[in-house]
Amino acid sequence: MNPQAATLSHSVVPSEAPPSPAQTSPAALAPATASDSVLQVEGLTVSFDGFRAVDDLSLQVANNELRVIIGPNGAGKTTLLDMICGKTRPTAGRVLFKGQDLTRLAEHQIVRLGVGRKFQTPSVYEELTVSENFEISIPNAHGVLSSLLFKRSDAVRELIRTCAEEVFLADALRQKAGRLSHGQKQWLEMGMLLIQQPDLLLLDEPVAGMSPRERELTSELLQRIARGRSLVVIEHDMDFVKRIAHKVTVLHQGRVLAEGSAQHVQADPRVIDVYLGH
Ligand code: ADP
Ligand code: MG
Repeated sequence: MNPQAATLSHSVVPSEAPPSPAQTSPAALAPATASDSVLQVEGLTVSFDGFRAVDDLSLQVANNELRVIIGPNGAGKTTLLDMICGKTRPTAGRVLFKGQDLTRLAEHQIVRLGVGRKFQTPSVYEELTVSENFEISIPNAHGVLSSLLFKRSDAVRELIRTCAEEVFLADALRQKAGRLSHGQKQWLEMGMLLIQQPDLLLLDEPVAGMSPRERELTSELLQRIARGRSLVVIEHDMDFVKRIAHKVTVLHQGRVLAEGSAQHVQADPRVIDVYLGH
């Protein structure tokens, strides 16, 4: 994460640069190597009472890549994200973010390094307005002195407005978050993460509970925000997956069952057998 974000010298808007060839033809995305990968998961394992929820799992995510993780319920998808963001400690293996081992760091340290995590259920401050939710998410906006300075700053208002526009909430800034639709709460939470300018964003079923139109807008949003950062998205809706994924990893019983383009994994008989055929 850019520590300068609090001084607002950087815009929250992801680069409007045209997509790289890798993004325009996702299937052509070359496999991540150690040097261009932002995230390396190596032999990650966690046991709960002897049950291996994630079992010797390895994967790499490249810079600017939008990776989707699919798999049946209980495959270990959420647990994988929990270990990347420091919520759950692995029993073995490690997670490298830009080459740095996250495995022993606390959750807040991992956030500060630039990893944002969105949980399955949206968690926003229902009693605060949309604008206030954004405001308290700005790094270093906490503390009495800084929040006084922040309140007076036009730059903060501008940052919040830009961020709200990005996540389709420009007209809802003064509304209490509790009054938003479920889909809008999902957007608000994504905006609260984006305002922190993470380099890696982990999203657990971000379109759950969204209408078809909201899903369509979200697929555009995710593709836009993947220019300039990497995303790992857990999702079930295969139409949505096909629209956004540069590459798909299929988990089954805590292991990688298949990996490749959406087309590739959809045609894999083992994937059809354990997941898509149901
Ligand atoms: P997914 O997100 O793919 O549906 P999860 O990662 O939530 O799956 O869960 C994987 C498996 O690990 C499930 O069988 C679940 O019951 C188990 N599990 C997850 N977290 C815990 C925990 N804290 N304690 C015990 N078992 C857990
Ligand atoms: Mg889950």
